[in-house]
Amino acid sequence: MKVRASKKLGQCFLVEGAVAEQITETIDLENKSVLEIGAGTGQLTAFLAARAKKVTAIEVDAKLVPELRACISSFGNVAIIHADALNVDFNGYDAIFGNLPYNLSTPLLLKILESDAPTAVLLLQKEFAERMAACPGSKDYSRLSILAQNNARIELIAEVPASCFSPQPRVNSAIVLLDKKPAGRRKLDEQLVSILFQHKNQTVRNAITHSARQLAVEKKDAKELAEKLSLKDLRVRDLTLEELAKLSVEWLKVKPRR
Ligand code: SAM
Repeated sequence: MKVRASKKLGQCFLVEGAVAEQITETIDLENKSVLEIGAGTGQLTAFLAARAKKVTAIEVDAKLVPELRACISSFGNVAIIHADALNVDFNGYDAIFGNLPYNLSTPLLLKILESDAPTAVLLLQKEFAERMAACPGSKDYSRLSILAQNNARIELIAEVPASCFSPQPRVNSAIVLLDKKPAGRRKLDEQLVSILFQHKNQTVRNAITHSARQLAVEKKDAKELAEKLSLKDLRVRDLTLEELAKLSVEWLKVKPRR
């Protein structure tokens, strides 16, 4: 690593080859075309190139690109895109990989979930990964869990200690497998999910009553709306995806229109 790492670009480089190997071995890559987000100087790219049919590696930092090119020079199956990954099309790949810059984890995850790639293997901050995989009723269950699990089966593959990176981050990371759900996602009302999870320790009734201002209605009207929902007595943090889908259908019929 000859260049100085940029904190702003979330540059914590993987220095443990065994971790890169474990990431690339999580799924079968034979004859697969893969996209790598945030290739850096090629720590993961070389392992991907050795196993996949074709690798498209995106890196935003021009300073890293020459080292990245040198790292993969012995492979003839890597295309480098020097660009902001948020502006690159993620469609058309069999799998997406990335040791993601932590400050862009959420928007990049959104793009990955919306893409047509059936699978992704990501290295993420452990806490973020745990929130993605959290079950209803657990302390980590959040909007992120709903978003991730409505689109994919989430599996935590392994924890990766901070000592495997340079510079060392303050927190540990985790390898996460996302297996898209072929049946597609449930229809969830975004406004409802947002309102509910701002009060996740309350009942559905209280969460909606306490969101009167956000709904631009009087408190008594918000309470009346909540009373129309069949699952109003359940605690938000315990709601399953099925229950949120049921509530979304009911909410669509009663929610205030502007
Ligand atoms: N893949 C390398 C590794 O595993 O060591 C680097 C991972 S490092 C955590 C994240 C990488 O993403 C950095 O190389 C950084 O420059 C790059 N990056 C940050 N923001 C990006 C963006 N918007 N688009 C593409 N790459 C980005």
